Amino acid sequence: MDTSRIHVAVRLRPKLLSEGGEADAIAVHKDKLQLLHAPWTRLNTSYQFDRVFQPHHSNAHIFQSFLTPTVQSVLNGNHASIMAYGQTGTGKTHTMLGRDLWGLCLTNTPEQPNLTVTQDTGLMYLVAAELLHHRGALQCSYLELYNDKVYDLLDDGVKGTLEVREEASIGAYVPDAQLVEINSLDALMEILWKGAQSRAHRATNMNERSSRSHTILQLTLNDTASRINLVDLAGSEKCKSMSGDGQHVKELKFINQSLSNLGHCISALLKRGKHIPYRNCKLTRLLQHSLDGKALCSFIVTLNPCASNTMETLSTLQFAARAM
Ligand code: ADP
Ligand code: MG
Repeated sequence: MDTSRIHVAVRLRPKLLSEGGEADAIAVHKDKLQLLHAPWTRLNTSYQFDRVFQPHHSNAHIFQSFLTPTVQSVLNGNHASIMAYGQTGTGKTHTMLGRDLWGLCLTNTPEQPNLTVTQDTGLMYLVAAELLHHRGALQCSYLELYNDKVYDLLDDGVKGTLEVREEASIGAYVPDAQLVEINSLDALMEILWKGAQSRAHRATNMNERSSRSHTILQLTLNDTASRINLVDLAGSEKCKSMSGDGQHVKELKFINQSLSNLGHCISALLKRGKHIPYRNCKLTRLLQHSLDGKALCSFIVTLNPCASNTMETLSTLQFAARAM
């Protein structure tokens, strides 16, 4: 029996129209992949993961074939997390939020449209819908972490930064974040829509902030208080140069710190270390209960399929391999 609590899948997105002429970066064979254009590296170029998803695989397929144990575990009363990790433009938001919601998010559509469920509806919706199906109601909050500060994506009034508090029984929590009870698929879609609108709004105000913040949808079951965190992480790309304005350098510093601390926590968990450095940043503080103990944690690591991107892909694979 597979007793590991940390599961890692990688997902290779299709080439975009603009990438039509590019050579392939990666060859896939079942759950193994091989980097094709990295003869210069001394690092490993061949990797195995729990699952490798190919460009033709849909969100619905990933949900059914990879996330069923995670959802079942939450229904059984355990905490869990599902995280999308990868460089900007590799499909994290496509995976978590889904094609339609994210597309609309970018076009600043003011009215909530009537969205139907498709093969590419995001994992946030699919997981929440499954929990609703079994339990009838859920508590939701939807947070954004930017420069190690917490914001509420469900807050119309834009309250500004929120405080994180600690309580022994429930761990770190954000007392002033809205906690909305949903009991229908329409209410769920409304929450995701509202969050997407806030993300889009803040992105235009702050120059594509959406790829430099982490977003966390927290779903809590009423009866067992088990919680799942669904996380669309900030882009993992290494800064090409430390030039650029001060704001940009500051953003990169917080992203690098939080992602590498997440990696340190996962490594320490795998080694069954006594000290897990959760407290070093708000991302891992907020995720502690959904990484610790009996919690199941599933990563979907997203990859760019083009040979020209091999350097970044290699560094993404290094992170993913450390979590195995
Ligand atoms: P990220 O959130 O990692 O920055 P996005 O989710 O915004 O990346 O995806 C970048 C682009 O790639 C978008 O145009 C998106 O529609 C497209 N894309 C990503 N993943 C897929 C996929 N699996 N199938 C089709 N298009 C995808
Ligand atoms: Mg994104």
